[in-house]
Amino acid sequence: MEKFSKVRANDFQTQWAHIRETALSAMDRVGKSGWLILGNEVESFEKDLADTVGISNAVGCANGLDAIEIALRALGIQPGEKVITTPLSAFATTLAILRAGGVPIFVDVDDSGLVDLSQVSSVLEADRTIRFFVPVHLYGHALDLESLAALKKKFGTFVVEDCAQALGAKSAGAPVGTVAELAATSFYPTKNLGCLGDGGAVLSSSKEFAEVARTLRNYGQSQKYVHSILGLNSRLDEMQAAVLRTAILPKFSEWTLKRKQIAEVYLGAIRNPSIIIPATPKKSDSCWHLFPVLVEKKRASFLDHMASKGVEAGIHYPSLIPDQECMRNISNSRCLGSLARARVFANSEVSLPIHPFLSQDEVERVIAACNEWIP
Ligand SMILES: *Cc1c(COP(=O)(O)O)cnc(C)c1O
Repeated sequence: MEKFSKVRANDFQTQWAHIRETALSAMDRVGKSGWLILGNEVESFEKDLADTVGISNAVGCANGLDAIEIALRALGIQPGEKVITTPLSAFATTLAILRAGGVPIFVDVDDSGLVDLSQVSSVLEADRTIRFFVPVHLYGHALDLESLAALKKKFGTFVVEDCAQALGAKSAGAPVGTVAELAATSFYPTKNLGCLGDGGAVLSSSKEFAEVARTLRNYGQSQKYVHSILGLNSRLDEMQAAVLRTAILPKFSEWTLKRKQIAEVYLGAIRNPSIIIPATPKKSDSCWHLFPVLVEKKRASFLDHMASKGVEAGIHYPSLIPDQECMRNISNSRCLGSLARARVFANSEVSLPIHPFLSQDEVERVIAACNEWIP
């Protein structure tokens, strides 16, 4: 019975039903070609991805974590350099900074849960030695790109935008990923543009930086058997690129629209004084990777209630990155202040299901479950 089925946080089986034919023929095309690594498929996908995002260069990588590391290394980060970032993100954001040799400096978030640009500005003002900033367009919301551009200009900061959750989001009409020298994204299956495994990309408006990223992803090899810099093995493979380009990318705008429509419905219909919907950042045309709400009292009981109604809710994220055990021994890493707002999110955020395959009935079940909850 429909009534007892789960409202899932993600639905990869239904997605497969939508892409099966085109995905299988993409795989067949690659198999028949006999070319499996760094060939025409990756090159063509990179072009189509760049066009979709509205940026001139894209470089396919093995995952989003590597894409951030590669972007920082392409910008010439030096060991021990400070990098401002957010305490509220996937751990990968900070892990990439550490792997690139950087030292994370954590700045609190704003009311939407995204790094607070005015505090970042104060930190840059107070410490002119800081050259790097890795902001995250969290939950599919776009940070204010005009403020980000102004900050970058004023302090000469190198910015790497983490767009893993926000591909397709815009701020005052400008796509995320276009302010920074380099941006990074992920094709992890849950992401808005997810592949059938792991994948990622570096984005850049600069041909030169894109070329360095291209060299870095392939052992630092600038020409065959010529290693000009120390690189990684972080290539997007032909199979994933082929599936992305011909099976998934053509659905991307339709799927993004579906997420936006569901968000509109939630925004208009969730009415419960115990459930707060955080503000969408000003100027953001969000792509709604997640639909975050704040339940400040009794989050555990709310999650139990949602589970009893068959709704799969998530938490993004239950712990702040600087509080993770492995961060204890990272010398020189600092938090600016108590990160009070980020802690509110860590303690009370709940992500409601939002993906392109939710039926109207499922959306209504999520709303009903929210509205009838009494803490
Ligand atoms: C998923 C994610 C990453 C890491 O991407 P992977 O492809 O899983 O390595 C980085 N940053 C953010 C904000 C993410 O959501």
